[in-house]
Amino acid sequence: MTSIIETIKAKVDVVEEIGLVVALQKSGKSLKGLCPFHNERTPSFYVFGESQTWRCFGCNEGGDVFTFVQMQQSLEFREALLYLAEKAGVAVEDYSSHNRSPEEERESQAAKERLRKLNEDALLWFHQMLLRSKDAAEARAYVQSRGISSESVVTFSLGYAPDRREGLSSYLLGQGYTESELVSGGLARMRDGGIGDSGGTGIGSGIYDYFRHRLIFPIRDSRGRVIGFGGRAFGDAQPKYLNSPQTLLFEKNSVLYAMDMARDAIKQAKQVVIVEGYVDAVIAHQYGTKQTVACIGSAITEKHIQQLKKLTRQVTLALDPDAAGAAATEHGIQEVLKTFDRTIVPVPVATATTGAGGRKRNEPRGMIRLEEQVDAEINVLQLPPGQDPDEVIVQNFAVWAHAVAHPLPLVDYYFGTKTAGLNLREPTGKTEAAKRLLPIIGMISDRIKRDAYMRKLATMISTEERILYDELQRVLREQKTNGVVAEFSAPVGPQRSSKGAGGPFQAGSGKQGTQPIQQQIMSGEPGWISKAEGEKQRQPQAQGIGLDKRKSDKIQWEDYLIGLLLQNPGLNPHVCGIINDGDFAGTDTRELYHILNSVYQRGSSPSYEPLEQLVPSALLTTIARARQSVESRSPLDGAGQIKNAVQCATRLKRTRLVQLNIELQYVLREAESTGDVAVVQQLKHKLLENQKQLRTIDSATHLQG
Ligand SMILES: [Zn+2]
Repeated sequence: MTSIIETIKAKVDVVEEIGLVVALQKSGKSLKGLCPFHNERTPSFYVFGESQTWRCFGCNEGGDVFTFVQMQQSLEFREALLYLAEKAGVAVEDYSSHNRSPEEERESQAAKERLRKLNEDALLWFHQMLLRSKDAAEARAYVQSRGISSESVVTFSLGYAPDRREGLSSYLLGQGYTESELVSGGLARMRDGGIGDSGGTGIGSGIYDYFRHRLIFPIRDSRGRVIGFGGRAFGDAQPKYLNSPQTLLFEKNSVLYAMDMARDAIKQAKQVVIVEGYVDAVIAHQYGTKQTVACIGSAITEKHIQQLKKLTRQVTLALDPDAAGAAATEHGIQEVLKTFDRTIVPVPVATATTGAGGRKRNEPRGMIRLEEQVDAEINVLQLPPGQDPDEVIVQNFAVWAHAVAHPLPLVDYYFGTKTAGLNLREPTGKTEAAKRLLPIIGMISDRIKRDAYMRKLATMISTEERILYDELQRVLREQKTNGVVAEFSAPVGPQRSSKGAGGPFQAGSGKQGTQPIQQQIMSGEPGWISKAEGEKQRQPQAQGIGLDKRKSDKIQWEDYLIGLLLQNPGLNPHVCGIINDGDFAGTDTRELYHILNSVYQRGSSPSYEPLEQLVPSALLTTIARARQSVESRSPLDGAGQIKNAVQCATRLKRTRLVQLNIELQYVLREAESTGDVAVVQQLKHKLLENQKQLRTIDSATHLQG
């Protein structure tokens, strides 16, 4: 049976789809163009029609048509699914699985539509109030005093909620909305007596305005639709900010103010600046720092970061300079660290010769230690003491612009905050400073950077670097024992001996170069892959680039791995250090892994039972297939599950690296034939890098125990 996803992929040609946004030129059996995901002058972005995949050899992004649409339009998988299904003329139910009947689904959609209309009408009323009402004189003066231009008032549709109990309510009731619609839409509150039956005249009704005497900032979703409002008090009235309550449309903890207007600028600037207040965001945009968003409510949440990390990896925090701001900054940093993907760098380590855990001495055994690096660049905006962002922007834009362009790296920020209040001339103060900062310095993987911070610390506390290095070693040893360790065990393949010095890994050695690596990868397939399947994998390469061979086998491994993770979510830490989403060849398995991984990382659910309710219905068959793949084999104990999961993950990783190797060889040959020396150099470098990674995995898998 063909899945909906496969049907869509069969109908939407990746070459055509990418061709809509990238000018592609033919290059042998593939096409190339300028990468839409990074800035470049010579094309390193390739589309392979044969395998319906694409890859950029400049920024290393790649995938299939789904990945491209998701990345290029910043869409979630299910949004990309709807978009591509429409193109392919394939009908997909969005989420069949919310246990709702089609009628209920339609009703809920209709309710949302009605609420959007209600919000639009409220926005117009607030906006007109600010522009024209006599009551809004104080509000207009306030807007002016904060330096907000009349253009910004219009661009952001700012409004005013007058100090009346039945201002907006009576207007909206007159427009035909009901009292309960106003209450559930977060625009009115019920009086003590509850909703009245005055028939919507507004006189003596049972509700009153939610926002009163506040400057109104309409909050829009990423598509620009009004979903709620933020109200700022004038002067020192409390609370300073009053936001819409949770409604059908408005989820406070996931929305970022001005996101709809900042999206493109964030991508372009490769940076997002997060401020605390609505006024800060409006002023930043007004003065041209359009990559600015404000968090609604005081805290930065994981959901905020989830949206941002699709656009950039540089997160600049520009929170208020008070104590609450400092706490919010620390909280924001932790959320970023938690939410951004981790790049895992495998480091092979020699293992003890004593066979641990009853392992037979003659069984090969290897260990890889995986060092985690958060794939985000976090920094903190440094502003003159005591000044909020909007004040700095209005009073001295050059200072602001410089701060945005040169934000303080996270480690430097910690040098300041972690040592605040310590007397660095006293021995106790020095010791304390080193104790607080060394673990942070230890997290830096770049040796040169790390050394620079060691010098900085040594100078700061007037201590010899040598002493600090001893201390750092101790800290690092502690971190390592707490780190992630993956264990591999695999039979040694007969092709081991063919891995001569340099030979098979020689860059640019053409087809011959790829063969031994593939054979190594084929050797030692997990026991659950039958002999026949193993044989099939050894079939010689057919004509063409040779990209999509053995696809069905890959998918089988992927199903099995997903099945294992569904059965035992606790396996996640054992595999997430080895693979990431991009290592999956199947569109469906890739998305399932992505969902499983993020659910696990969030720790939000100890069991994956409700997964069927989280995923688009198009993925339900894959879930069933994955469960079946595990259930059809004999049950495993915990150790067996870990072993198979790690083997699966390792094989997926290796298969992906081999795939990349084939692509690189192909593209390299193309470049050599056109005599583009710079590109050839770059590709050879990539090829060597790739082969080094392959060797690392190989040696880890084959290290003698
Ligand atoms: Zn690129």
